[in-house]
Amino acid sequence: MRILLLGAPGAGKGTQCKAVAERYGLEHLSSGDILRQERADGTDLGKKAQQFMDSGELVPDKIIIEMMAHAINEAPKSGFVLDGFPRTVNQAVELDKSLEADGSRIDAVLNLQVDDDIVVKRITGRRSCPACGAIYHIENIRPKVDGICDKCGEKLVQRTDDTEEVVLNRLKHYYEQTAAVVDYYRKNNIVYDIDANPAADEILALIFEKLDSLVNV
Ligand code: AMP
Repeated sequence: MRILLLGAPGAGKGTQCKAVAERYGLEHLSSGDILRQERADGTDLGKKAQQFMDSGELVPDKIIIEMMAHAINEAPKSGFVLDGFPRTVNQAVELDKSLEADGSRIDAVLNLQVDDDIVVKRITGRRSCPACGAIYHIENIRPKVDGICDKCGEKLVQRTDDTEEVVLNRLKHYYEQTAAVVDYYRKNNIVYDIDANPAADEILALIFEKLDSLVNV
């Protein structure tokens, strides 16, 4: 299975993708996580992406398309779940072209729909583990010990782009550029809308219900 999770920042893509990858034995490919790793490693790519990420701008298509083509190429044949990519129609077109060249395609697009006020609350309260990538929230998904990752004991951090000002800019780019990606895939009849306003476990149940029905067809 090759799946895309689309939706505004804060829709819960990262959290949900991890669970989907685990349940269906897929590789979780997050463009944001790959970029953050490149930055942490101090690579040229990471340096190029830094200024865009910190201000909530999109990293230029050329850089992202190349980076994700490489990640997809390395993914196991069982399939993958894409998180944060494609974010522009151009990225989607290039993704489809490279999959087609390989005789494959995207099987399902889950479109997580969430209200803007919920996005701002979720993102500004989000904390994540720099070591294992686990995601928490200061009110909704609290770790057992304040500020410490349950899974690996590392100190939790707030992403530099998770401030209100940057979130509003990321939302603006979502509506200007990424919302059109959903319409791009709608013409193939593979888009499933999911209400992403409730709590994470409720959203996940909706996602599993949909994907189970597709897997068992
Ligand atoms: P995310 O973790 O998905 O919210 O991504 C964090 C930041 O990385 C975004 O605000 C962008 O600056 C950059 N980024 C991630 N994925 C993409 C993409 N597909 N296209 C352009 N920029 C991206």
